[in-house]
Amino acid sequence: MVIGMCRSFRDRALDRCYHCFPCLSDPARRSSLVLKVTLVMLHLVYVGILFLFDSDLIDKTKKEPWYTALYLLLFFATLVQYFITSGSSPGYVLDAMRAVNETNVICKQSSMAKQRQTASSKNGSLPVEGCQSGRNFQGTDSTSWTKLVMDMYPPGTSIRSCICPYCNVEQPPRAKHCYDCDKCVLHFDHHCVWLGTCIGQGNHCKFWWYICEESALCLWTGILYITYLRANISRAWWNDAIAILLLIPLSIFIVFLLLLLFFHSYLILTNQTTYELVRRRRIPYLRGIPERVYPFSKGVCHNLYDFCCGGSNIYSLEPLPSAQELEEKSRPYTCLDVLTCRCC
Ligand SMILES: [Zn+2]
Ligand SMILES: [Zn+2]
Repeated sequence: MVIGMCRSFRDRALDRCYHCFPCLSDPARRSSLVLKVTLVMLHLVYVGILFLFDSDLIDKTKKEPWYTALYLLLFFATLVQYFITSGSSPGYVLDAMRAVNETNVICKQSSMAKQRQTASSKNGSLPVEGCQSGRNFQGTDSTSWTKLVMDMYPPGTSIRSCICPYCNVEQPPRAKHCYDCDKCVLHFDHHCVWLGTCIGQGNHCKFWWYICEESALCLWTGILYITYLRANISRAWWNDAIAILLLIPLSIFIVFLLLLLFFHSYLILTNQTTYELVRRRRIPYLRGIPERVYPFSKGVCHNLYDFCCGGSNIYSLEPLPSAQELEEKSRPYTCLDVLTCRCC
């Protein structure tokens, strides 16, 4: 009976909480919120402990305020970058389709308006069938999306093999359905649990900057912790037990972050995604391509430019390379290729 009363009290409390904050009623959003709060708390604990115990750092702040100001700037920039990346769209296929549809509708409306103007100037009256075509926009748009997508695959590819059974939409090359987001993502890289979102075409650049800033912050924090421990090395170790306990997971995290940063830098330079690299043999359009060939690479500089400056249109689509292009990329390297930085 007591257990039942406790449960009903808990349920009522939760209902009130969900009533005040409707976003918390969704388990996915709740866990995402818990994750974000945990991340902020972790950052605050690491920095707070440092400023609480390290008197040398306080002295240094008084003498050289710019040093601490720079550190705190990196601290806030990292948190801001985390929230920006977490809240950004990875580029969903459905959104891309809608964007294409809207563009088509606008284009068709303007072309129809021009036709009507021409007809009225010729006949002196508006054509009657003008508004009827408006109904067909939806049908023609989905066809144009299908055509747009199918043009990116080699001729003879069946439409059925390109349709996602969950979203019921034609997937452009390099897109994949994410089971966590329940949506197809353009340039699917991976679903990041830490950020609570997918990493794809729309936010891969932001994700790289986040891991870059986080690595720099963790490295700097690690250095500050080591400096503090070295300054107090003559003391009994249990006096600094908290700092030692915090430094151990931080060191592991630094190694993980640096490996992740190098790995994603390599992916960016070769225009690959984590999914393509890991599942290379299972992805139909990558099957049969030699391991050393990067089918979507346009050369290091071009890949880098596309990655950094291609963010203006997160729905830009990339066709599959033709057989000729693949043959050209599979060609053995010559000295001239090395000098001209051929698609590495
Ligand atoms: Zn899907
Ligand atoms: Zn996802």
